Amino acid sequence: MKELICKNIIQLKPYVAGKPIEEVKRQLGLKEVIKLASNENPLGPSPKAISIVKKNLARINRYPDSNCFYLKLKLAKVHNLTPECFTIGNGSDELIDIIIKTFVEEDENIITAETTFLEYEIISKVNNRSCIRVPLKYHKFDLEGIEKKVNKKTKLIFIANPNNPTGTYINRPELLHFLAELPKWVIVVLDEAYDTFIDVDDFPFGTDLIRSRRNIIVLKTFSKSYGLAGLRVGYAVAQPELISFMERVRQPFNVNLLAQLAAEAALDDKDFLEKTRKLILEEKNFLYKKLRELGVNYVPSVANFILLDVGRDGCEVFKEMLKFGVIVRDMEQYGLSNFIRVTIGIREENKKFLSALKKVIKR
Ligand SMILES: *Cc1c(COP(=O)(O)O)cnc(C)c1O
Repeated sequence: MKELICKNIIQLKPYVAGKPIEEVKRQLGLKEVIKLASNENPLGPSPKAISIVKKNLARINRYPDSNCFYLKLKLAKVHNLTPECFTIGNGSDELIDIIIKTFVEEDENIITAETTFLEYEIISKVNNRSCIRVPLKYHKFDLEGIEKKVNKKTKLIFIANPNNPTGTYINRPELLHFLAELPKWVIVVLDEAYDTFIDVDDFPFGTDLIRSRRNIIVLKTFSKSYGLAGLRVGYAVAQPELISFMERVRQPFNVNLLAQLAAEAALDDKDFLEKTRKLILEEKNFLYKKLRELGVNYVPSVANFILLDVGRDGCEVFKEMLKFGVIVRDMEQYGLSNFIRVTIGIREENKKFLSALKKVIKR
């Protein structure tokens, strides 16, 4: 059957998502399983979002607003920009696809890091676009290395800031220097899926750069800090002209009715966001301390997950931890064989994770 499949699709490896809780319960016959594998919010969804979704269930016979009018209005207020600076996606994953389709011609290329969010490369390949991947330097995006790869045919550069799966970030002077050196035909996508968890002063939020720069697109999502991963909403921020072309590429009803309402409500739920942020920062310090006691090396993170060097095959560690009812993420797909990535949970989950880790690394 291979001859029926497009050449660029044949070489694709399937994306392996974090293992779902129900699947692990079923396969291993466990009653209690915790998932610390997909950087989701351990406090659940924003309560305001839950309430608005419940109230509007009977409206799903209608198509959603094709323009996400109210959500854009609210986002414009939050970021002090105009609604024309926003386009909404079925998760930021969809926006990555829309960006590539809108801006990258057949003979042009895309650059990103070798060890970063896998969707940049996968979606490039699905669209038959070449994606050049530059190795990280000390677990960080190597901007100088990326700059060396830029040529006349480079159209897009994807930077996950903070980077997933390492949790490292590019600071303001580094980013500004990099942007100043780039030719004007290159668009830089700053993917800020973990913006809420940043606890450093020199982080360069992309939304502050939009007004003065025509070649930046910022990606944000409701999946992580707002706890809406299951509803799929993300958004892109850029100057209105770039956005207007992305709006032509997206499907007319890409963001469902409940997702739009939940996202609006979640934006109003400042208490929930603050509670989430506080929890993650506290629990991050708790985990750091315990990991140091265990002698496990980790990469300091500004996000809601931590990359750990477990000193042995990470896939085996992942499998052995499943037996204790703890789902983490092995890093095989990312080419980091002795590492696992753990999402920061609530205290009880973190303790369960640490106790499983302790047993597993001793073997
Ligand atoms: C989780 C994640 C996303 C995915 O966001 P969705 O809005 O759920 O599609 C995008 N970028 C990075 C870097 C992520 O880690």
